[in-house]
Amino acid sequence: MKIIDGKLISSEIKQKIKDEIQSKMIDKKKPVPTLACIIVEGNPASEVYVASKEKACTACSMKSKIVRLKKDTSEETLFNTIEKLNNDEEISGILLQLPLPNGIDSVKATNRILPSKDVDCLTYENLGALFSSKKVIAPCTATGIIEMLKHEKIQIAGKRAVVLGRSLLVGKSVANLLEQENATVTICHSKTENIKELSKQADILVVAIGKPKFVTKEFVKKGATVIDVGINRIDGKIVGDVDFDDVKKVCGYISPVPGGVGPMTVACLMQNTLTLHKNKSKGGKR
Ligand code: NAP
Repeated sequence: MKIIDGKLISSEIKQKIKDEIQSKMIDKKKPVPTLACIIVEGNPASEVYVASKEKACTACSMKSKIVRLKKDTSEETLFNTIEKLNNDEEISGILLQLPLPNGIDSVKATNRILPSKDVDCLTYENLGALFSSKKVIAPCTATGIIEMLKHEKIQIAGKRAVVLGRSLLVGKSVANLLEQENATVTICHSKTENIKELSKQADILVVAIGKPKFVTKEFVKKGATVIDVGINRIDGKIVGDVDFDDVKKVCGYISPVPGGVGPMTVACLMQNTLTLHKNKSKGGKR
């Protein structure tokens, strides 16, 4: 059994990005990418995520701009903030930290971001491109999972992949990328019957449901790869959707929580920001 070290892989990705920015932008006195994060105050987990994104920008020699809005902010204020960042030439990518407070429609808000600056690939235009295989970028978590599998040289093509969870942000997106890599993919959700039996058929099992330690060794085929996306806070500790100690007895590879998909998501956010920045410099669609 091998533990997939997302922290290590993500630091390799960030180092490559830093080197590219140094040689192709800083040394040539060209502008570096700038990531704007909009955070609506009141969610402690969001504060942690935004802080780690800001830290990653610094590590990659990118600029970051954090825009804070009050907990009781109106939809109009949020939309105006997005509009301002859309029109700001210096901004390469915009990330709207979710969840948003009740009363603000997050789908509507996300779709206010210009597709050319939509760094998490969640606008309808970018999702359409993703699902029609015309993508420029893909959602960060889904991309991070594929990068992990490729880094470990785990075969995807021809293999059976099962994804637990069908959110746009994770489940549907990673299922789509796995299918583009020629896996045969099954998506399970809260209404799926025989979820254990289906999971047990997987060569690659991706779990993104937000239920602590839901997946035990009874869900896992011997030698399978298990990718745990879940982030659950229990008694101040972060645990995944997979019962790590139980599943490690049967799997071939496993990504831990913390230190697995989380850091990969942040590294792929940096990668996406760089891609959008380069696309803009080439006169990409706005
Ligand atoms: P979400 O939008 O709440 O979606 C959860 C999905 O899981 C839904 O499709 C739901 O099914 C399904 N589900 C819930 N209970 C289930 C059960 N008992 N059996 C089978 N399926 C079940 O969550 P999300 O945004 O995809 O996030 C999932 C988890 O990943 C969360 O813990 C989140 O914190 C974490 N996450 C981590 C990262 C990272 O970078 N590591 C990034 C994003 C999210 P229905 O559709 O039928 O309701």
